[in-house]
Amino acid sequence: MAQLTSYIVGNWKMNGSAADVAVLRAIADAAAGHEGVDVGICPPATLIAAFAGAAGPVQIGAQDCHAKASGAHTGNLSAAMIREAGATYSIIGHSERRADQGETDADVNAKAEALHAAGMGAILCVGETLDERDSGNAILIVTAQLAASLPASATGDWLSVAYEPVWAIGTGRVPVSDDIAAMHAALRATLVEKLGEAGKGVRILYGGSVNAGNAAEILALADVGGALVGGASLKAESFVPIIEAAPR
Ligand code: PEP
Repeated sequence: MAQLTSYIVGNWKMNGSAADVAVLRAIADAAAGHEGVDVGICPPATLIAAFAGAAGPVQIGAQDCHAKASGAHTGNLSAAMIREAGATYSIIGHSERRADQGETDADVNAKAEALHAAGMGAILCVGETLDERDSGNAILIVTAQLAASLPASATGDWLSVAYEPVWAIGTGRVPVSDDIAAMHAALRATLVEKLGEAGKGVRILYGGSVNAGNAAEILALADVGGALVGGASLKAESFVPIIEAAPR
């Protein structure tokens, strides 16, 4: 199979305001000069509509969606709602939501199905805690998480996976390259086991303290198809070098 197009996505979490459309424009300018790399930004839901109108080649996504199409779910947004706002995909199952909102693998699986039904993409996050890493069972735990979160209908046309060790998110700590490569190989094997040939076409992003200094080494690893970037995506100066480091 041909090399999958690199995918570099910024997760702004609960950061940003309307004035930051200027940051998006700077990222869009850089993305326009880097054909051959897919670039995304997932701002807070309140900014999706404004950002979608100024995104150029940058794909605007949401950070979550509800699994149901409508109903009594105060404060939540359906896939159709975020699509109407201008998002074309959503992050689902981020470890902060799994921890803060108690999201289970079954919830994440249902959210992926809801996005697909709405004609949208999904970035499905998995990753181990520090205790799980220290237990020596990280690969078993994370592949089981993926197997349970992944809908049987998944293909690389609409779904990507993000491996994000919880202990690496926002901490400045990054697994050694051998550990990232071993996890991505195991996730690829799980994708192929669950999806057959289609599993080879799913991009597996790495996330957790990616920055301008470490991006090139991480993005060059086998089966690392891109990066999900938190803190370093909030400013064009720190995000653009990551786009530039992506293999094309
Ligand atoms: C994230 O939260 O998805 C993330 C990877 O954050 P950071 O890059 O800040 O570690």
